[in-house]
Amino acid sequence: MNKNSVNRVSRATNQRSVLFFLVFVVLVPTISVLWFMIKAVENERFAVRQSLSEVLELRLADTRRALDEHWKQVFATLSNIEVNTEGAATFNSIIQTGLVDSVILRDFEGEIVYPNSPGFLSAIAQEINAAWMAAERAEFVDQDPAAAAELYAAIANNSSNTNLIALALLAESRCRLLAGQKEIAIALLTESLQQPRLQSATTTSGRLIVPNAQLLALNIINDPHHSTFKAVVASLQKRLESYDDVLLTSVQRQFLVKELQQLVPSLEPFATLEAEELAAQYLDTEVGIAEKSVLRLSAVPDVWHVALPGNQIVALFRGERIRREVNKIIAGQNIPQGTVIEASLADTESTTPTLGIYASQHLPDWQLSYGFLSSSVLNSLENRQIASYLWTGILVIIAALCLALIMARYLTRQLVQAQLKNDLVATVSHELKTPLSSMRILVDTLLSDSHTDAETTRDYLRIISRENERLSLLIDNFLNYSRLSQSGQVFKLTSQNPGKLAKSAAHAVTEKFEYADFNFEIDIQSDLPGIEADEDAIVTALVNLLDNAFKYSGTSQHVKFQVYQREGFIVFSVIDYGIGLSKKEKDKVFEKFYRADQKLTTATSGVGLGLSIVQSIVDAHSGTIKVTSSSGEGSTFSISIPVSVTEKTNNVGLADD
Ligand code: ADP
Repeated sequence: MNKNSVNRVSRATNQRSVLFFLVFVVLVPTISVLWFMIKAVENERFAVRQSLSEVLELRLADTRRALDEHWKQVFATLSNIEVNTEGAATFNSIIQTGLVDSVILRDFEGEIVYPNSPGFLSAIAQEINAAWMAAERAEFVDQDPAAAAELYAAIANNSSNTNLIALALLAESRCRLLAGQKEIAIALLTESLQQPRLQSATTTSGRLIVPNAQLLALNIINDPHHSTFKAVVASLQKRLESYDDVLLTSVQRQFLVKELQQLVPSLEPFATLEAEELAAQYLDTEVGIAEKSVLRLSAVPDVWHVALPGNQIVALFRGERIRREVNKIIAGQNIPQGTVIEASLADTESTTPTLGIYASQHLPDWQLSYGFLSSSVLNSLENRQIASYLWTGILVIIAALCLALIMARYLTRQLVQAQLKNDLVATVSHELKTPLSSMRILVDTLLSDSHTDAETTRDYLRIISRENERLSLLIDNFLNYSRLSQSGQVFKLTSQNPGKLAKSAAHAVTEKFEYADFNFEIDIQSDLPGIEADEDAIVTALVNLLDNAFKYSGTSQHVKFQVYQREGFIVFSVIDYGIGLSKKEKDKVFEKFYRADQKLTTATSGVGLGLSIVQSIVDAHSGTIKVTSSSGEGSTFSISIPVSVTEKTNNVGLADD
């Protein structure tokens, strides 16, 4: 392996270690930062949920307190309504509060006062005498409605019992209708039966007769535009809506309301009908006892009952109403966005997975629970935090990357310099050793042999002189290189005559060319303008080019040295017809310690510093160096130095020398 390939291998090793360093310096912090970021993000998620949970638990407790308060107030409002003995008016006023779906009212003995049952049954049974039996016989056995009507009319006229009178009038109207006397029948129902004294008349089963008679009249008239019809509807409606009428039972009221609504669909709905129906349904179904101040599910599906303080009122609430009230209270709580508080029955599965608490001491079978909506609000809250971590992470990674790049550049420079020093030491010792040892051999030979003829002695001395010159050139190059390598190297630029500089350089090599029998052509254009240059430096550069042309001329032994002016530049051109350079080699010849790996090159002395020194000198003169070459055909190295601005007009020609 020659020196060049050794250098290349060690340079590649250096680059690999720098690359490894770079990867290490970036990768380790990056992985650590990523790990921290993932952990931080996880923690952030947990923390956000944790702090929301704490807030929600407080809100849950607030909600429960609000619910306790709400139900306490509802129960207090309802219990404050005094239950009177008749109950109907109390029922009405409780329902009108809108706080409850229905109620069952009891007296102090625990007897149900509303929904009410018929009062004292009338004593008409004893009064059903022979006259009544005769009328019924005429109506039902003889099927003679006209005769029966007369008999019933007589009873009504002769009796003093209002219940019996009302019943007789009702029967008469029935018979008149059968007898085809419709108008009389209507008059009996809407006029005769409307006497104030008959308003409280009841049947033997306790039903009020007059309202039923009115319904019958409406059915007979069956014309909503009939004036009597309208008047009867108004009167009946008023009676059904009034809860002062203690004789009207809940059952009869419900029946009449529904019938009336069917007959006159345009009527406003009766506010208490649903409550009446629910109370009736409850009494038909419920066997258990309502708990005091605690809402429990009753036997009626989704209806909750509670005994209010004083035990006189059992309030009934539909599940729907409870849900509505609870949700209203939850909505009034200040719940963080993206979270939810839900009320549900304790034995049902809550849609939120979190632990629930019972909703209220008055609603122990309900529970409150909280949860997080998968809403964008919570996510954006988390994402904001996560984004800040991400940005921090990215910045840290970028910072690590920049730091690594800076350090890598620094290290590369250090490594290259160290490598160059090593190369230099190795090359110097190798290159100096060769001429020195050959000189020593020749001197030793001359010393040991006292009979050497004059011709041989001259030959030996000439060789010694050449080796000496080579050694000097090498040392010059090393010194120049070391001088140029030091930062702050400043050339002393003064106005110079380019022809003179070219001649100095040519002079330095002429003897060598002549001795080697070279065809050395020098062509320096006359009247060249001056340049700003460091004399020694430019001569060194030109000598290097000429020396290379000599070294790499191969068998051609022909070198041209041309100096001319072109477009504001003085061009120094050294042309040889020797080994030339391939395209790849051409690109590298100016690199330090580069030597083209060819037999001819390796056979010549040199360390690959000459052209890099030339390049540095030319750069310091704001000039350029170009090479045109092709393998086996020779090379042309041209240095271009700008013409001095001040001396452009001076035209200091070679003729002056
Ligand atoms: P050295 O000549 O001491 O090796 P240089 O820096 O002067 O170092 O040249 C670098 C390399 O460029 C040489 O080793 C040689 O391979 C190539 N080179 C330089 N000048 C010529 C030329 N005129 N013809 C062919 N090859 C050349």
